[in-house]
Amino acid sequence: MRYVSTRGGMAPQTFTQILLGGLCPDGGLAMPESYPRVGAAELAAWRSLSYAELAFEVLRKFCDDIAAADLKALCAKTYTRAVFRTEAITPVKTLEPGLHILELSNGPTLAFKDMAMQLLGNLFEYVLEKRGDSINILGATSGDTGSSAEYALRGKRGVNVFMLSPQDKMSPFQTAQMFSLQDANIFNIAVRGVFDDCQDIVKAVNNDAAFKARQRIGAVNSINWARVAAQIVYYFRGYFAVTKSNDEQAAFAVPSGNFGNICAGHIARMMGLPVARLILATNENDVLDEFFRSGRYRVRPSSQVAQTSSPSMDISKASNFERFVYDLVGGDTAVVKQLWSKVDTGGEFNLAGTPYFANVKEYGFVSGSSTHADRLATIRRVYKDYGVMIDTHTADGVKVGLEHRQPGIPLVCMETALPVKFAATIREALGRDPDYPPGCENLESLPQRFEVMDADAGAVKDYIARQTGL
Ligand SMILES: *Cc1c(COP(=O)(O)O)cnc(C)c1O
Repeated sequence: MRYVSTRGGMAPQTFTQILLGGLCPDGGLAMPESYPRVGAAELAAWRSLSYAELAFEVLRKFCDDIAAADLKALCAKTYTRAVFRTEAITPVKTLEPGLHILELSNGPTLAFKDMAMQLLGNLFEYVLEKRGDSINILGATSGDTGSSAEYALRGKRGVNVFMLSPQDKMSPFQTAQMFSLQDANIFNIAVRGVFDDCQDIVKAVNNDAAFKARQRIGAVNSINWARVAAQIVYYFRGYFAVTKSNDEQAAFAVPSGNFGNICAGHIARMMGLPVARLILATNENDVLDEFFRSGRYRVRPSSQVAQTSSPSMDISKASNFERFVYDLVGGDTAVVKQLWSKVDTGGEFNLAGTPYFANVKEYGFVSGSSTHADRLATIRRVYKDYGVMIDTHTADGVKVGLEHRQPGIPLVCMETALPVKFAATIREALGRDPDYPPGCENLESLPQRFEVMDADAGAVKDYIARQTGL
């Protein structure tokens, strides 16, 4: 399996060659040269596998330059009861016949990003050790991504993590999750500023090519291919959980921001998983819903991004969306390049009326959006009717999923975080506190370890250099 760029300007690479990289040299995203197909016999055999076994079977199709036995061991080490607090890893909760929640938030940070990030941590350590190399991950976070990366990379050999977050802007629970980590390779930097300041610092550091090379600066952002690949697994798993035979179809409702989660669903479907619909849900930041309804992809300036009660979906552009458009235009890299020459300069494109846009239906995509009032109503309804408490992002998915539900086709709503992470909105909706999962009750009173710094890239560079000694 070789990987190429959506913009056509990269010589084919192997899985481990693109594992530690970010954007391709031409600014595009890495994509497999073709999608592996899963035949009927194979799909039938996969039904009875454990999560770790299934992960190995799916990932070996995308990753053929890690020895099979090693990849199997990495999957077995990642998807355990100890890490995900349940034997099933992603259990299904059935609300009523044909309506299900796929639990993706039982990992260490109680959000679905752990599903891929935990594997990525083990892959990084494995590949760096083979090469005798090391990496310093630099990132900016407003919540889930940063903590998920830290919990995946804590204590890993050959890796340090420098994570910038806006001081006093994350929820108390999210802050405690990150800042309570005492591992020597984790460095939390609270920046006096907003999330955009943090992102600007990351950009500025990466633009200093000499510093970047000397410090071996890397990233684990949502465009990382291995993250997308690892997420494919739970679409298969969810499908098997809600169907009895492979003649049946299922639909998935996916709360979406950077298009990473649902991109994995799209790929599972391209591989042959019987998916009737991929239902994309946004919050008030509806750049993706607008595209799937109208064909118009209009990236918002960050001043126009609304701060909502499902904050992990507050995005101005969807960083993985280019992967889907590459498929939509039949892999024509010249077209992708031309469309993104507009996006990258703050412009927009419109595929309405083109044969490309007609393909959207073929790919099973439908979409909708949700508001704060919708979230409150959905959280209340699911709690009242089924006695199940869902978080704000999951609520966006359930709301839009129900609007597109088809008779006779089981609907799987992706649970992307636990309610405890967004306690204020749960209190607003239900008039009570969310339940704390076992082991998290005292998190907010643990000692915290972090550095407070001005929004100054030079100061951050000095700090990194002092810690690494490079
Ligand atoms: C990251 C995140 C999302 C959005 O997922 P994408 O892969 O970016 O589309 C949704 N919900 C939660 C809780 C998240 O952390």
